Amino acid sequence: MKHESHAELAAALWPDKKDVPVKLLTCRHCGRRNRVQVPKAVLEPSRCECGACGQALFLTPEEPLTRISSSAYEHSLDRSTLAALKALPGFPALVRWLMSNLGERSLRLECLSSTVMCGEAQFPELVKLLEEARHGLDFPSQPTLFLSESPHANAVTFGTEEPAVIVYAGLLDHLDDTEVKSVLGHELGHLHAEHGLYRTVALVLAGGSGLLGTVGQWLSFPLQKALYKWMRCSELTADRAGLLACRDLSASLGVLMKLAGGHRPGTRQRTKMKLAPFVQQARTLAKQEESSWFDGLLAMLLTMNQSHPFIAWRVMHLLEWVEHGNYLDILSGHYERAKNPVAA
Ligand SMILES: [Zn+2]
Ligand SMILES: [Zn+2]
Repeated sequence: MKHESHAELAAALWPDKKDVPVKLLTCRHCGRRNRVQVPKAVLEPSRCECGACGQALFLTPEEPLTRISSSAYEHSLDRSTLAALKALPGFPALVRWLMSNLGERSLRLECLSSTVMCGEAQFPELVKLLEEARHGLDFPSQPTLFLSESPHANAVTFGTEEPAVIVYAGLLDHLDDTEVKSVLGHELGHLHAEHGLYRTVALVLAGGSGLLGTVGQWLSFPLQKALYKWMRCSELTADRAGLLACRDLSASLGVLMKLAGGHRPGTRQRTKMKLAPFVQQARTLAKQEESSWFDGLLAMLLTMNQSHPFIAWRVMHLLEWVEHGNYLDILSGHYERAKNPVAA
């Protein structure tokens, strides 16, 4: 999204100067509290210095978030819906049965037989982007990367013993490198936050490629509903990881916009898709949330049997975290660290 300047983007995201969010951040060098305007901090972090010691308030894009714990960025809805899913009678037994009878091995074999495994000799560009995302998040293990032919702009993660990320080729048509890095960071976030087991279960139930397509035939309704709901809420945690990996808000929002509207030649020839009106669209949705009918709609959308709707909702939650959550605290070096780096 390099066509929109910092100034244009700031004006689009925070049109009313009175409403520009402000945050108090502690300098990691001298401990002094600094009052910073969120737009400047988010869009031009390298220009933010501590008022007392003059050193950089934020880590540079190249500095890793050393030993960051996934709890540092886990969304509360992800945590609560996973707890609800795990508490459902029959779910732990189902997980055990599936993993011992089919497990991630079946998915890995499917990848090896029908996609292209990436490495130093095969799509090294893609592997380099994954490595950059892994470095940024200080993610300890190296998942296998597969490229799969598909017109859809999508990526999938599975596995706990030998985690894997599958990038659908359509994604590379739609996104630039920073945006792809954001997607790979999103997928690493799923693994980091230990979504691997339950996403593997969902994939196995769906027969591999259709994600949630056939899962309904296997599960009782409450179980199905709880699994869909958690799957969707887990996206909010992973979106945060994507932003922490690329540290470029316009790239993370650009990915979501392109997931919603595509970026095919037919679209590109006609008009340049702009982030500003799309963000306004998400803000309109956020305002609706304040009215009570939205709760019913939210519940319905959360359990819908589709793979990627609800994108404006993700935009809204990501912006909310940037403005009022701990995104900037993390980038200024203040975050929860993993107790055991190996088990991060
Ligand atoms: Zn300082
Ligand atoms: Zn995801």
